[in-house]
Formats: sequence, C-alpha cells, structure tokens
Amino acid sequence: MQPKQRILNAPVYQPGKPIEDVKREYGLTEVIKLASNENPYGCSPKAKEAIVAQLDNLAIYPDGASLQLRWDLSEFLGVKPEQLIFGNGSDENLLMIARAFLSEGTNTVMAKPTFSQYRSNAIIEGAELIEVPLKDGVHDLEAMAAAVNEQTRVVWVCNPNNPSGTIVTTAELEAFLKKVPKEVLVVLDEAYYEYVVDPEYPQTVPMLADYPNLIILRTFSKIYGLATMRVGYGIASEEIVSALEHVREPFNTGTLGQAAARAALHDQEFVVSCREKNRAGMKQLTDRFDEWGLQYYPSQTNFVLVNLNQDSNEVFKKLLSHGIIVRSGSALGHPGYQRITIGTAEQNEKLLRALEEIVKGA
Ligand SMILES: *Cc1c(COP(=O)(O)O)cnc(C)c1O
Repeated sequence: MQPKQRILNAPVYQPGKPIEDVKREYGLTEVIKLASNENPYGCSPKAKEAIVAQLDNLAIYPDGASLQLRWDLSEFLGVKPEQLIFGNGSDENLLMIARAFLSEGTNTVMAKPTFSQYRSNAIIEGAELIEVPLKDGVHDLEAMAAAVNEQTRVVWVCNPNNPSGTIVTTAELEAFLKKVPKEVLVVLDEAYYEYVVDPEYPQTVPMLADYPNLIILRTFSKIYGLATMRVGYGIASEEIVSALEHVREPFNTGTLGQAAARAALHDQEFVVSCREKNRAGMKQLTDRFDEWGLQYYPSQTNFVLVNLNQDSNEVFKKLLSHGIIVRSGSALGHPGYQRITIGTAEQNEKLLRALEEIVKGA
C-alpha cells in the first residue's frame, strides 16, 4: 500500500479515554469523564423530543443544505442564510477550510499549543506550519500578525483557546484584524462562545461587515450538549461560504442532528442555566486550587488547565484509579498540567477529593 507520504506525518487524534474502557481496566462501576469538555447536564429535553420525532425518517437522506436550521440560525444571529455553512461538527468545518485554502507552497499561522486539528489538517494539505507560542497562555496576536507573509492563506485564532481556556479581547482582536491583509482568511474558532462571561470578549458577528476575510466557527457540541449529533457551523461572507460549499460533502449533517440543533437553539434558557452552573463549578475548582497554591490559566470555558507540578501522565493514571478521566497536559503541549472539564458540583467534589490526595501526597 502506498498512502500519500505526508498524511503519515499528521498525528492521529487522541480522544479522551472512554468511560467503559476505564471501568473494565480498573474494575470500577462508577467513572466520571471530565476529559472532553462535554456538557455534564446533557442537552435540552426539547432536543431529545426533536430527535424522537424524526425516528420514522431514518430511511430518507437528510436535507443536505440544512435549510430549516439555516433559516433559524440566520434569524438568531442576524445574518443572511447564505452566510452560513454547516459541518459534521466544527471539526469538519476546520477540515473544509484547510481543504479549500491550503496546499503545498502555502503556509498557515496558528498558536502553540492550540486545538490540534488546525495543525493536522494543514499537514494533510501539505501547507507549511507557522506556530507562534502562546504568551502566558494567551494568543500572541502581535507576533501572529507579524508572522503572516505572502504565502499565508489562513490564520487560526482559537478564542477562547483550547487547551488554555484564555481569551483575546475585542481591542486585541481588532488591532490584529487591522494588520492582517484582506486576502488572508482569519478563522475564529468560538467553540466555547456560549460559556464566556468576560465583557471584554469580542462580539464577532458584527465585525463581519468590516472584515470580509473572517470566518467564525461555533458548534452544538459544547454548551448545547449535542456532541454526538455532530453539528457545527461557520458564519462568514457569502464569498467564503460559497468557496467552502465546493468541498462540502453532500449530506454532511444528518436529519437527527439538524432537528436536535434547531430545538436546542430555541431553548436558550438551558444555555443560560448551563453557563451559570459552569461558572459556579469553575469557582468551586479554582477556589481550591488557590488554597493549594496551584497555578492555572484564567478560563472562560467549561475546562481549566491547572499546573500540578507533577508528571502529567502519572497524575492522569492516579485519577483513573479513582474513576476520574481528565486530559493529561503532556498530550496537549503543557507537561505538568491537567486539563479538567468542569463537571456537576458533585463530580467536582469527587475530583477535588482525589486531587487533594495527589497534591498533598507529593
Ligand atoms: C471541541 C472543539 C471543536 C470541535 O467541536 P465539534 O463541533 O464537536 O467538532 C473545535 N474547536 C475547539 C477549540 C474545540 O474545543
């Protein structure tokens, strides 16, 4: 077999460890997963009802254009229906962007560490990577703008950033957008948009009018609690959307996903309540981290990256033996750290009890 050589350089995505796997390996009956930034409160009950209502339609191909979801979202966001592109999760939107804009002889600028898929897709397309280190866990937008050159086609800004959880502010983003040439696509990955409470966080949809080289990516996987339904969307100029339509698979979002996403969108009360509970859970964890003198990055997401000053993989394994799955920082470019998803109050307490042993026993 002779696969294309360069794809073998793209790392295979390492997902959070599945619950069933840990139960079997450690002989546990109760395991909690705080590894993949999933919503511990599930999804809106209305989304479940919407899925059930579609169960007689499974033999029928989905609406490839996601028309009803498109209309609803366009109204919700105040953009034209033609300004939206749907993907099989944001992951597929990232892939479509790379496929449409990157190739050998081009380069792409991103932070380091940031969400792994920007890098993988760029490698697959044969583009050169320009990775700009984070500054105190935050995108160094000045250095990123300075790194852009004639061959740059795409710049990725993960805001809030995964895995650090930090944001760039409106002022920082605007200064950056002014510097980036209009021919260069700027991707704003806002997978955690709905979790953010900081008033300095940029509202980017209105910026599309001034910056036609911008695409905003959001998803139903995180606060909406629909990760398994695989629906993400991009908001951009009609020109960018129509370029991406050329590389989109015909039926990339399914009927169940589209129906669930619509219902979830119409239940903003659920979103607000998850955001509030998440902030309370964040405080529950960080208050204790402060007490223990641990350094962590200020997070506007539903996860926190904390420095335990111990071998990440060892701590990860110790937590597994307590029935808690987190994400080892060494896999994410932050050795010594763990990335922990905010759980329910009860899950957080269980995590803190296990962590206390690890922190104090060191
Ligand atoms: C979770 C995540 C995604 C992918 O989300 P899906 O919509 O489930 O594909 C994209 N970007 C970031 C930063 C994420 O954390």
